[in-house]
Amino acid sequence: MSKAQYVMALDQGTTSSRAILFDREGRVRASASLEFRQHYPRPGWVEHDAEEIWSSQKETAEKVLAQARAQAAEIAAVAITNQRETVVLWERATGKPVYHAIVWQCRRTAEMCDRIRQEGFDRTLRERTGLVTDAYFSGTKIAWLLGNVPDARRRAEGGELAAGTIDTWLIWNLTRGRVHATDVSNASRTLLFNIRTLCWDEEILRYFGIPASLLPEVKASSSVFGETKLFGDGLAIAGVAGDQQASLFGHQCFSRGSTKNTYGTGLFLLMNAGEKIPPSESGLIATVGWQRNGRTTYALEGSAFVAGAAIQWLRDELKLIGSAEETEAVARSVPDSGGIYFVPAFVGLGAPHWDAYARGTIVGLTRGTSRAHLVRAAIEAMAFQTRELIEAMSTDSGNRPDALRVDGGAARNDFLCQFQADILGIPVERPATTETTALGAAYLGGLATGFWENEDELGQQRRLARRFEPQMNEARREELYAGWHRAVARAKGWARGL
Ligand code: ADP
Repeated sequence: MSKAQYVMALDQGTTSSRAILFDREGRVRASASLEFRQHYPRPGWVEHDAEEIWSSQKETAEKVLAQARAQAAEIAAVAITNQRETVVLWERATGKPVYHAIVWQCRRTAEMCDRIRQEGFDRTLRERTGLVTDAYFSGTKIAWLLGNVPDARRRAEGGELAAGTIDTWLIWNLTRGRVHATDVSNASRTLLFNIRTLCWDEEILRYFGIPASLLPEVKASSSVFGETKLFGDGLAIAGVAGDQQASLFGHQCFSRGSTKNTYGTGLFLLMNAGEKIPPSESGLIATVGWQRNGRTTYALEGSAFVAGAAIQWLRDELKLIGSAEETEAVARSVPDSGGIYFVPAFVGLGAPHWDAYARGTIVGLTRGTSRAHLVRAAIEAMAFQTRELIEAMSTDSGNRPDALRVDGGAARNDFLCQFQADILGIPVERPATTETTALGAAYLGGLATGFWENEDELGQQRRLARRFEPQMNEARREELYAGWHRAVARAKGWARGL
């Protein structure tokens, strides 16, 4: 048996870079985290300094190795999971970025997306990439960089530049520029990747004026990407996936129909769709989950923009609560929401509504409405939004999950988990480890390097902290959900002035 005892996962998120050492049982043995700066050069624009992303990530890796007193020989693999869609453009010769990283949240290409829709190319994009035409995805961000950074287009065409999502940027730095690669799950978020052929799509690249030589080689998520010598002896870089796909893998959603939900600032619901590209009529996104052992697993994805952010709003703007944790006790202090609904459509509504003009709405207020009712309604809204996404997924996939696996900051709230089970009528499962995303990347890396044998071995490690069984009767469940629909109808189109 090899000396390897750990897999190191690098979890490069939107606000912090983290590194975690997992042992053979999938337990966290060391972890380190560093925040980095957010740059908002104009309203709606969001950037990161790519060099700061790399230096913070490298430092966390060094920290966890020191914490565990681990030698390089004890690390079976370095795995990577990352904020998705964010892009970096850099000089091949020096490895220096030519501009800040443009972050997934950045809206600078919203007008470019309007033009694409006017030209009708959004249909081609949808068909080939599984995505909707939105500034969120990487393709238009790369096109913007080539069109706006002085000399970038000429230099890109001359092969002097390289582009990539954050996984690619980390791999480049870990290998000191020897490897320019990404994995299929990250590639599938760029709007440039054909999820049928699993190649960069030439026609799309032509449309955006992006030279193919700028883009990384695309590899299986669970495979060896290269070697890093930055931490002593050579370490295999193996296991790469975008954060939400890594979380799906970390929850062990290996079978078709199994589903996870992450309750953070927003909601991210992903369902394993099996080995065929799932059609979506309900405004969901088809994406690559992962590729392993020559097989590609697809996923259906739906998200709500505002989930835990509504709790932050109650805390920071309305000052109704002192902390997010407090919401649990406050919600429990009343038997129900007193008939009120809170639709947190602060920035419009995503799937399945796609209404950019919807706005936040609270309906059903009476003289008896209290702070506790409002807090409770904000938590219940996360569960209702999740049910809408689950319904859309069930329609599109023909599969209804038999349980929902959950993670993210707000999943710590027992009241939310119970109410979610009640509103869905299926159990909600919360794993013992809260590091599902990093664990998913570690699994992909550990499987690629033989640290773990197969999914069955991982299955033996799965530990639930708690399973919430539905307790509400069907009539009540449907009555509450019908009320949510009526509330959403009132939130829609508000900013259009109708
Ligand atoms: P992100 O990764 O999007 O930054 P996290 O997964 O860290 O988010 O979750 C943070 C979000 O969860 C915040 O919006 C916060 O309001 C919410 N949150 C955290 N704890 C709770 C709780 N106990 N109950 C309800 N919401 C919570």
